[in-house]
Order: sequence, then structure tokens, then C-alpha cells
Amino acid sequence: MSLTFIYSRIISKDIKRTFEVSYIHMALKIIIRILLFTIRYTLSMYIIKYFFLISLFFLNLFGQTIDLKFLSKTVKNANVLLVTAESTQDLKLFALLKDKKIAFNIHPFKKNIFYALVPFHYFLEEKQHQLIINYTLNGKDFFEGFQINLIEDDYLSEDIKVSSSKVSLSQANKKRTSKEYKEAITIYNAVSSENYWFDDFVFPLNSTVTSPFGTKRIYNNITKSYHTGIDFKAPLNSKIKASNNGIVKLSKSRFYAGNSIIIDHGHGVFTCYFHLNKMFVKVGDFVQKGDIIGLSGNTGRSTGPHLHFATFVNGIQINPVNLLQTLNSLN
Ligand SMILES: [Zn+2]
Repeated sequence: MSLTFIYSRIISKDIKRTFEVSYIHMALKIIIRILLFTIRYTLSMYIIKYFFLISLFFLNLFGQTIDLKFLSKTVKNANVLLVTAESTQDLKLFALLKDKKIAFNIHPFKKNIFYALVPFHYFLEEKQHQLIINYTLNGKDFFEGFQINLIEDDYLSEDIKVSSSKVSLSQANKKRTSKEYKEAITIYNAVSSENYWFDDFVFPLNSTVTSPFGTKRIYNNITKSYHTGIDFKAPLNSKIKASNNGIVKLSKSRFYAGNSIIIDHGHGVFTCYFHLNKMFVKVGDFVQKGDIIGLSGNTGRSTGPHLHFATFVNGIQINPVNLLQTLNSLN
């Protein structure tokens, strides 16, 4: 064995060993780096998280003068959501739902309380809706967001065999119904900042319900319309009472609803009495709760004498049972 051979063996062994050592070294380095990175990342995440929490805390310190309360965070369709806000200051408060802006009003019965009736339309999509409460405090605008879960109420449904489009109207009646529709919409959207009632709302007569609110009218598996009020059993000429104090905004004969009365109770609340035989009040009259405003009948598109009672809040049709319950809960 030559010396050079032995020498080269030793060198190659050494090189091998050096390689092995550097591999372990590299692996260790990588592990340490990963560990350091994880620690740094977690730490910075904690710092960011607490920074946000602390800044939110300080932001809220300036905004917490208002105590917002929700009757519930889950609402059924064609129902109203009651939101109250407590403040000793005179505030401009609004609830924003989709493209609708609902003003808060001064609570009719409680001091330092503002309230809003947020209406959820019958056909509004069943999902989480973002409700924004906007108010101005000390010259600053505040926006607070809340998630409201809209679910479908268990309304009845009926299948309609004939397509709605097949119920044909003459040109004159089409013009008339569209004019009457627009007239009513204008009334329901004219929200008064005053309220005229100081007591519980009542149903316009003591009688059995022959058809509840909300029954879905299904044409070819598609809900095209729904029953927009409560039908009360009412033999011809039954006395119809005003649900509460208010100003008469409509009192006339209409194509579908027949002799109709609409009362504005203020704060965006309206009650409607349809298919009447006689009307005892005219537009502009101030009526008191319980006043006999007319007699029931069978006028307009009606299949027999009954009273169709409907309610609106801030321009949206609401289940009268739910609305009267909500309004009476204020007292
Ligand atoms: Zn009806």
C-alpha cells in the first residue's frame, strides 16, 4: 500500500465527515429558523390582535354614550324589528337596511329612549342582513353594523290553477289600478315624525279570522303574491272601529279594495280597512281610537262580505298581528 493511497483515504474520510457534520448543522439551522419564524409570526399576530382590541376599546369609549337594544336578532318576513336607543342627548338616528333609511323616533311612552320600527319585506331574501345604525354625536358620524337573520314565517299557501296574467283588465281599469297603487304607495311612504296615538292599538272588530295574513299564492310552483291582510268575518254593515288615533289619508272607492279607508297614526304606522259598504270619515279627519269609521261590506274584488285589515310601517306591508303586538309592547 503506497503512502499516497493511505493519505488519500484519510482525506476522503475527513471530507465525508465534514460533509456529515455540515448536513446536521444545516438541518439544525433550518429547524431553528422555522422555530424563530413561528415565534416571531405568532408574536406579531398577538401584537396586531391586541392592538386592534385596544384601539376598539378606545374607539368605543367615545361612542358608547348610546345603548342600542334589539328586540331580537332574528326576524321573520313581513315582520318588524324593534330597535331602541337610550340617550339623554337629542339625537339624529337612522337604521339603514339595504336601500332603506328608517328614522328613529322619540319613544311615545319612555323618557330618553328613541325607537325604530325596521320593516322586513315579505319577499326579502332569507339570509343574514346587515343593519347599520347611524347617528351623529358631538358633531361626529357613527356607524355600527349588526347582523340580522331573516327567516321565513310559516305562512299557509294555496295553489292557484289559473295564471295571474290571465285575469285580464280593460285598458281603463289597468290605468285606474296603477293610479290607485301609486297613490297608496305615496301615502305609505309619507312618514310623519309625530305620533298621534297614546294607547294600545286594537283590531277593528271582534270577530273570527277567516283568512290569515301572508298566505302564499303559488302559480306553477312560484310564489307570485300573498294575502296582504287579515280577513275578519263581518256580516254586511258590521261596525268598523279605528285601530287607534290618527289622521285619515284616504277614503274612497278603489278597484280591488272597494271602499277603502287608510289612517296615518304617525311615526310611519298606517292601518287600512277595505271592502267597506259605508265610509263615515273623509281625508284630513282626525279619528280617535275606537271611532266607528265605516260599515263592512263586499265592495271591490271581494267574494263576500268581510273586512280586510292591513298595516304598513315605513312604506312596507307588515303582518298586522306582529305590528300591533310590537307597537303595544312599547306601552
Ligand atoms: Zn283579504
